Amino acid sequence: MFQKILIANRGEIAVRIIRACREMGIKTVAVYSQADRDALHAQLADEAVCIGPAPAAESYLNMERILSATIAAGADAIHPGFGFLSENSRFVEMCEKCHITFIGPPASVISRMGNKSEARHTMMEAGVPVVPGTKEAVYTVQDGRKAADQIRYPVIVKASSGGGGKGMRIVEKAEEFEGQFSTAQRESVNAFGDDAMYIEKYVQRPRHIEFQILADRYGHVVQLGERDCSIQRRHQKLIEESPSCAIDENLRREMGDTAIRAAKAAGYENAGTIEFLLDQDGSYYFMEMNTRIQVEHPVTEMVTGIDLVREQIRIAAGEPLSFTQEEIAIRGHALECRINAENPARHFMPCPGTVSNLHLPGGNGVRIETALFQDYTVPANYDSMIVKVIVYDRNRELAIRKMQSTLGELVIEGITTNIDFQYEIINHPDFQSGNTNTHFIEEHLSC
Ligand code: ADP
Repeated sequence: MFQKILIANRGEIAVRIIRACREMGIKTVAVYSQADRDALHAQLADEAVCIGPAPAAESYLNMERILSATIAAGADAIHPGFGFLSENSRFVEMCEKCHITFIGPPASVISRMGNKSEARHTMMEAGVPVVPGTKEAVYTVQDGRKAADQIRYPVIVKASSGGGGKGMRIVEKAEEFEGQFSTAQRESVNAFGDDAMYIEKYVQRPRHIEFQILADRYGHVVQLGERDCSIQRRHQKLIEESPSCAIDENLRREMGDTAIRAAKAAGYENAGTIEFLLDQDGSYYFMEMNTRIQVEHPVTEMVTGIDLVREQIRIAAGEPLSFTQEEIAIRGHALECRINAENPARHFMPCPGTVSNLHLPGGNGVRIETALFQDYTVPANYDSMIVKVIVYDRNRELAIRKMQSTLGELVIEGITTNIDFQYEIINHPDFQSGNTNTHFIEEHLSC
């Protein structure tokens, strides 16, 4: 087992990883930017190293500085968390060269799955259903339009290197194709430096269903059930839950088996997620694979009782999975609400600032993942997600009630947050009856 792990991240996920390490008797090294001098992760870790100025490009994305800090601290491994360098295959290669274990899959798997058109290709070869669309990357409007005509409108144009909802445009009809394709491609070049695009059928009113995978280096692959992440705003998840009320035992088993097949086709190792779109008629399609721990991993932990971060560390240290598929049982229901420092009344504009008053709820089945504390100043430089509220109960109805009660108790003053907006979603009769899809927010809430 590792003696010391460097956590190449910040905020609640860095804190989450530090706690897992501590429970396993592993020493921790935090890295922080000048804006994060007082941040909780830097205080909680056994050691903390400043790696540069506030902008992420000069600190949390600075590979050389992070590797130097790892070597100087004598750490054996790096946990990347999510975002930042977590899906950067070049960084993984650099870790390998420095004989530092990257807690995640090998570089080759990250680059294959990180390229969405290549990932689609791999899945098609493995007989995993993918949304009907182009087999190869498309670079020009002419080729794109030809493909779209074949697929039939509406279609969605996506950047091969895309992520976080960037470089993605829906095209309703042929007349709009050129404009939308060019905009998406421009966005992709600006954000990812890549003009490779692909085109898919646009699935109307789908649900976003993803399966959690764990794979060790000895070829064992298991799935830990699904998460329903259909509550999204601008393709960004806001509420996640497990299990999904949209799928029954048979479909769960079938999609779970497909997810395992997909992970095997990718040559996967460590924790990962297979994302599917579930159509209203019950057909489902592979969308993408995420090769990291995800924001919403706690809902899976609550219903399976398995600590995913601990498993990630064990797998990276070369240990085999400690359970079989048959030993994994899904019990009860878990919900997660992402609390962001943003103003729903002003187009969800980020609202950094100082927390003047903080009350974090607790109680049976309530889990709060955060790096906030009283008088902490949320910096403007990073993601606006500041708290994850996770609840667990025997069934969905009870979990919803627990979330209502928990959000009602949560107090964050001094900065504007989306707590009330989340409360509105949870209170909505259609959410409560499980009648949701990825358009729920735009159709039901004024924003
Ligand atoms: P990103 O990696 O940028 O998050 P994804 O490919 O994961 O992009 O898609 C994000 C969201 O966009 C999905 O959860 C879904 O709501 C929507 N989406 C993506 N592809 C399609 C599609 N073919 N049809 C309908 N909705 C889609």
